Amino acid sequence: MSQLNPSGANPFGADVVVTGTPVVGGLAYGPIIRAGDRPSFDTSAPEVAADQRDQEARRFVEAAGAVGDRLAGRASRSTGVSAEVLTATAGLARDRGWIGAASKLIAAGTPAPAAAAAATEQFVELFTKLGGLMAERVTDLRDVRDRVIAELLGLPEPGIPTPEVPSILCADDLAPADTAGLDPLLVVGLAMRLGGPSSHTAIIARQLGIPCVVAVSGLEEIPTGALGFVDGAAGAIGASPDEQLIATAVAEAKETAKAIAAWRGPGRTADGEAIAILANVADGASARAAAQGQTEGVGLFRTELAFLDREQEPTLEEQTGLYREVVDAFAGSKVVIRTLDAGSDKPLRFVSHPDEPNPAMGVRGNRIVATHPEVRDGQLDALAAAAQGSESIPWVMAPMIATVAEAREFAAQVRARGLVPGVMVEVPSAAIMAEAILAEVDFVSIGTNDLTQYTMAADRMSPELAGLTDPWQPAVLALIDIVGRAGARLGKPVGVCGEAAADPLLACVLVGLGVRSLSAAPAATPAVGLRLSGTTGEQCREAARAALAASGASAARDAARAVLGS
Ligand code: PEP
Ligand code: MG
Repeated sequence: MSQLNPSGANPFGADVVVTGTPVVGGLAYGPIIRAGDRPSFDTSAPEVAADQRDQEARRFVEAAGAVGDRLAGRASRSTGVSAEVLTATAGLARDRGWIGAASKLIAAGTPAPAAAAAATEQFVELFTKLGGLMAERVTDLRDVRDRVIAELLGLPEPGIPTPEVPSILCADDLAPADTAGLDPLLVVGLAMRLGGPSSHTAIIARQLGIPCVVAVSGLEEIPTGALGFVDGAAGAIGASPDEQLIATAVAEAKETAKAIAAWRGPGRTADGEAIAILANVADGASARAAAQGQTEGVGLFRTELAFLDREQEPTLEEQTGLYREVVDAFAGSKVVIRTLDAGSDKPLRFVSHPDEPNPAMGVRGNRIVATHPEVRDGQLDALAAAAQGSESIPWVMAPMIATVAEAREFAAQVRARGLVPGVMVEVPSAAIMAEAILAEVDFVSIGTNDLTQYTMAADRMSPELAGLTDPWQPAVLALIDIVGRAGARLGKPVGVCGEAAADPLLACVLVGLGVRSLSAAPAATPAVGLRLSGTTGEQCREAARAALAASGASAARDAARAVLGS
């Protein structure tokens, strides 16, 4: 059966083609693999007979050992973070405490799969009570449990299989633990049935530079084991393409990848309009890594990420040291630091959150100032201390600003400390009031992840709402247009630091809407820089007009592509 994509084209003469939301560009080709199902076992299985229990325990120990060895083997063939995560997970499979707890249950007659599950839950309870980083290992513990149970039952390994050759992974969506273990040399393309452009899978795919399409309808039609492709720019996944056609396209994609790797900043359009290409960072280490690449500065330092596991507010000295590391990594360059965006999906323990039925619309971001003014004051003091003696004055912005009064109050606090004040535009009201808000501050940065969520009234984490949580939605572009025009009228900088800035085609549209800096995961920025370097400012504006006039997200993407080429 041949299912054609909406444009009617059947790329590379494939047998089957299905489409979704394009997230990370590039062309990948290889065998299709699928994430294995989580195993289920017979919970009503009878007790193990007393004379069989030693053998059952040995079976369990062997299964855990096999899983541990397999994970350690994968770790030795991986690099960087992937290797670290896999080594840690292998350690869990070999953990004496866990093996001992399960063996004890087996000695009392519990069948091995049920013993593995029960022992895991004991540890889950313990880890959850310990909180912080330990609590984050719960998903990994359950992952190890499922792998061992599958081994005991002779089922295929659940989760992401270990491909022998570079392959394309199809799944419903990936758990954070799965994505951490992704090796971009072996998983070269991703196609997800669920997920949106700012879903966890999309963010990781962007960081790793893996071509990725999400929200794919009909993904089940792509057969496992077939040779297939993911075209991350067109949003297409196909099976059994014509070998000659795909070989030519893959060769071309390799050339493009080379050109992307060879791109050198600073960012500018083909006719020389300067567009700063900046990095989103989480701490000193990620800022130093970004400084090795082509980014010209930091466009978003998400300070809350450094404190997610803290019980107590970090001290002034500790905060100062951390902020100073980021400022020093880009000494003399632009560094935009965001005050704590606590709340919603990033709760901080030291800022108590009332039990809110709707936390994304609750006491989040700058709103904590009403309940915890001392936390924001302390952070601004630490930022001022970090700026002492630095080569350039950091820009400091507040998240979740909804009113002009909030912007005014924040700006006064920041200026009083000798820093440059700005705010994020993440709430539609802030976009609508952009001119009045910009009159109060020195710059704004548009957070397209939240701006899309709040404009479309669609939870950014919901895999079911991927079609709505798409920054190509013309309603979102219309709000960005308001902000861009306000920035031009007042002569103040407008940037974007949401995931939209990582999409090369959308980046051109954003520039056409008046955006003057683009901040994204460093791995994503060279493709953006290269695309802009081949596009004039006028082409960006024409693409922006075309996208704004479209009736929906896909139509906006197609309209921009018609102007700018794919
Ligand atoms: C955004 O909302 O686009 C943004 C950059 O902030 P965060 O993703 O941290 O909410
Ligand atoms: Mg946000």
